[in-house]
Amino acid sequence: MSFSFSDHSHRRYNPLTNNYVLCSPHRAKRPWQGAEELAGKIEMPMYDPKCYLCPGNERAAGGHSNPKYQSTYIFENDFPAVQLSQPELAEDLLFEEGEEELVRLLKKKLMRVRSVQGNCYVICFSPNHSLTLPLMTRAEIVEVVQAWKDLYIETQRKAVQEKAPYSYLQIFENKGLAMGCSNPHPHGQAWCLDVVPTEVQHEFDNMAAYTKKNGSHLLGDYVALELAEKKRVVVANDSFVAVVPFWALWPFETLVIAKNHIASIEDFSEKNKEDLALILKCLTTKYDNLFKTSFPYSMGLHQAKLGATEEEKKNAWFHMHFYPPLLRSATVKKFCVGFEMLGEAQRDLTSEQAAARLQELDGETHYSSA
Ligand SMILES: [Zn+2]
Ligand SMILES: [Zn+2]
Repeated sequence: MSFSFSDHSHRRYNPLTNNYVLCSPHRAKRPWQGAEELAGKIEMPMYDPKCYLCPGNERAAGGHSNPKYQSTYIFENDFPAVQLSQPELAEDLLFEEGEEELVRLLKKKLMRVRSVQGNCYVICFSPNHSLTLPLMTRAEIVEVVQAWKDLYIETQRKAVQEKAPYSYLQIFENKGLAMGCSNPHPHGQAWCLDVVPTEVQHEFDNMAAYTKKNGSHLLGDYVALELAEKKRVVVANDSFVAVVPFWALWPFETLVIAKNHIASIEDFSEKNKEDLALILKCLTTKYDNLFKTSFPYSMGLHQAKLGATEEEKKNAWFHMHFYPPLLRSATVKKFCVGFEMLGEAQRDLTSEQAAARLQELDGETHYSSA
């Protein structure tokens, strides 16, 4: 018997994070007796008088209301994770009067803290409460991409011209109860921090190290490899390609990558915007069609930091991650527990098997409207 990637355990290297994922394809056959999520298709009204994101409604914090917006709508989060201004964090705040010298020494070694400032935004994708990205038209998704671009440009302007404490804008969407999304109204978020968050900084460091070693860009090379092999490509057009990455952790994880170097959404042409909208529509429609359910995920954009230098722009490469939790049906999701918490990430189905499943699904017609 010879080694087969679809039958035998192996580890795959993720060059973006410098981590490994354990791949156990033979386990995909085991029976499932664990937890199942509630599936049930819930019909949503176009307008929900109790929704704090619907046009004209009072917001969660109370005291103010949304305008009767017609397209996308961005506002500052009423319950932000980071704030624009707060009292200064004194360096010696961790130290207490009269504590032993040993405790002080250990604190210096082990307890590091810095303040963080920023701002958080909510981006309503549509005034229509019942929609999700796959159910929106391509033109409507272009409006979402434009809203992301506008927010990137505006926060960058504030960072550069007004010295606002903005260094990185993390745009993301949590979709579905399984991902902890508390409101079904189609919306995403953007958290703007005065530091580059850990995951993003790891990627920047690993991409810079790759370029130093190989003289080319990690994601540029990866796009060339995936387009040549085609095994893991789910959908592609002139500007972008969506793949189940070789090193995927989540069963149907995908990576949407700019085919040519684009540092950030600021540099998107009209064509890029339309192409990204089309990829997003196609990919999320395939996702919904996979288990005939409104497919939950966390997704987000990775790109250059705000006010990046020429060097930092060269190192950044626009891409998006989709991390969906579902494993084998609308009700069975993957858990990251046990070995994954204590050892390393693990998956059963291979990336190639997941990509093949997604490739054969319809990305134009949604199951419910078919
Ligand atoms: Zn709503
Ligand atoms: Zn990334």
